[in-house]
Amino acid sequence: MEQTLNEIQVEHEPIPLNAILPWIAFITLIVMLCVYFIGAEQGATAVFSGNQVHEYFHDARHLLGFPCH
Ligand SMILES: [Zn+2]
Repeated sequence: MEQTLNEIQVEHEPIPLNAILPWIAFITLIVMLCVYFIGAEQGATAVFSGNQVHEYFHDARHLLGFPCH
């Protein structure tokens, strides 16, 4: 009973939207947090006082072209 790869039929079913939706929400949240901390965590919009968070993301900020100094 030998089967070659061509004889085996593999059926792919689409992933239901209900299974993907929580991942889309989670990834969107993480991306929005990254964009916020890289691009806007400075000055009047800063959540954390001081320059520690800003300096931590400083190189990423310049790499992505956000204005800084
Ligand atoms: Zn800078």
